[in-house]
Amino acid sequence: MVTTINVPIVQRCQLQEGILEVTCKLHGNEFPYKAGQNIQVTLPSLLFNDPKGKTRTFNILSSPNNSEYISFAFFMSDSGFKKSISQIPENSKIQIKGPFGLFTLPNDNKNLVFITEGVGVIPIIGIILFATEEKLRNNMILLLSGKKDIPYGDDLASIEKINSNLSVKTKIGSITSSFIKNNIKDFKNTLFYLSGTSETISKIKLILLQNGVSIRDLMIEEFIGY
Ligand SMILES: Cc1cc2nc3c(=O)[nH]c(=O)nc-3n(C[C@H](O)[C@H](O)[C@H](O)COP(=O)(O)OP(=O)(O)OC[C@H]3O[C@@H](n4cnc5c(N)ncnc54)[C@H](O)[C@@H]3O)c2cc1C
Repeated sequence: MVTTINVPIVQRCQLQEGILEVTCKLHGNEFPYKAGQNIQVTLPSLLFNDPKGKTRTFNILSSPNNSEYISFAFFMSDSGFKKSISQIPENSKIQIKGPFGLFTLPNDNKNLVFITEGVGVIPIIGIILFATEEKLRNNMILLLSGKKDIPYGDDLASIEKINSNLSVKTKIGSITSSFIKNNIKDFKNTLFYLSGTSETISKIKLILLQNGVSIRDLMIEEFIGY
């Protein structure tokens, strides 16, 4: 069910790889969603002109088990929308509409492999958090790269310590065919999750298809708009 809520921004954090994380307090507003889904975020008004307007789609970063806060994140840029949301006063209410999308966990214990670069890690953080909290038995491998740093690298290392089903492999630079092949032993019986910019997705998708992965085993969340 699609819900619309108006909730205040209570925190903004600038993170590695140019990512800005925004947290809103739910104040008892019910907003059911599945880990990995996305939302439409609308500002009350723009502080800076933006030809694309005052609404953007972002993936949810937080776990659905968090009934107090909802977080999302994006690659910070000079766009009018992003400058506005980074500068509007604390406690300003923004509109959140959703959830949308099918980039969610399966109902079974299939092996899961997440592959992405930079900002594409956002929905995967929510999925891994939720799977860890719920003690899901899926084996999970995350292959993640960053240009200069690994986004959410410290958080992922902490989660990896408490979730023995999770293995995180990182690299600086692009995701390459050899990085994937060195870290994935079984390309069958696995669901592959690809998220991020169109460029990141098409590159990784091609590598997986060349290694015999069926298109039916690909879950894709494409950040159209970059
Ligand atoms: C299903 C879905 C899920 C999505 N989830 C996410 C998500 O979780 N996180 C996310 O970030 N996006 C996500 N997106 C994309 C998001 O909705 C925006 O389209 C995207 O962030 C681009 O934002 P923007 O339009 O503000 O433009 P941007 O591309 O951010 O910026 C546009 C303007 O800023 C300038 N600019 C860009 N980068 C720089 C720079 N480094 N330095 C100086 N100027 C610069 C450009 O020249 C241009 O003028 C998602 C999209 C979809 C469809």
